[in-house]
Amino acid sequence: MTNRPQVRGVLFDIDETLVDLRAAMGTTLQGVSARELAHFTAADWDAYSHLFAADPQRHYDAYLAGHLGFADQRVLRVQHAREQTGLAPLDSDAARVWNEAYEEMLPLHFRAFDDVVPLLNELDARGIPYGAVSNNVHDYQRAKLDAAGLQRITVLVGTDTVGVAKPDPAIFLEGVRLLGTDPAQTLYIGDNLRVDAEGSAAAGLQGVWLDRAGSPSPVHQGGDAPAKGGYLTVRSLSEVAHLAAKQAAG
Ligand SMILES: [Mg+2]
Repeated sequence: MTNRPQVRGVLFDIDETLVDLRAAMGTTLQGVSARELAHFTAADWDAYSHLFAADPQRHYDAYLAGHLGFADQRVLRVQHAREQTGLAPLDSDAARVWNEAYEEMLPLHFRAFDDVVPLLNELDARGIPYGAVSNNVHDYQRAKLDAAGLQRITVLVGTDTVGVAKPDPAIFLEGVRLLGTDPAQTLYIGDNLRVDAEGSAAAGLQGVWLDRAGSPSPVHQGGDAPAKGGYLTVRSLSEVAHLAAKQAAG
C-alpha cells in the first residue's frame, strides 16, 4: 500500500516523546512552591502546571530564536501561570531563588515513558541504530537522557550542535549523518505535529507523529499535509517497531 523505504535508523524527539517532561515539571512546580501555595487545590495545581507547560505566550520559542535566556523563558512562564491563577508576580530575588530551586529539583524527576525501553531493546535486537534530535542544547539534554536512564542513546543532536532548531532540515540531517543512514530510510518520531512530524518529513525523513493523547486523528492526519510530505501517526512507541519491520522484503 505504501512505498516507504525500509527503515534502517530511528531518531527521536526527547521531551514528551522519550522523557515525560510534563510530569517532571508538574511535580517540580509543586515541590518548589509547596509552602507558598499550600492553599492550592489539586485543580489549582493542574491549571498552574498546565499553563506553565503549555507556554501560551511562547517564551520557549523566543528562547529558541535567541531573544531570551533559558532561565528567563522559564521565569516568564511561571510569572504568567501565577498571574493567570491570581498570584502576585515574583520579584527578581524571589524569581532567582525559584529558578534555582526548580533547576535543582527537576532532574530528580526525569523519567522515560514506559514504552521507550522495550522499543530500544527491539531496535538493538534488530541492529537498527537510533539517536535523538532535540530543540534544546546538547549538554542539557545529555544530562536529561542520563537522568532518565537512557544513557544507551549515544547519538544526540542539540540546537547548539548545528546552530539551528527544528524544523530546520539541517538539524534532522545531522542526526541522520551521525546514524550513518539515508534520510529516506530513517524514521523521526516526535510529539509535535508541525515541528517533528511535518518538519522531519520535509527534510526527507519518514516523519512520525506521536499522538499520545489520541487526538481525533482524521482532523490532523493528512489534513493539511500534502501527500508528498506526509507523515505517519502512532499513539504509542510500541507501534514503532511495527513501522520499522514493514517492507523488510523490499
Ligand atoms: Mg517533544
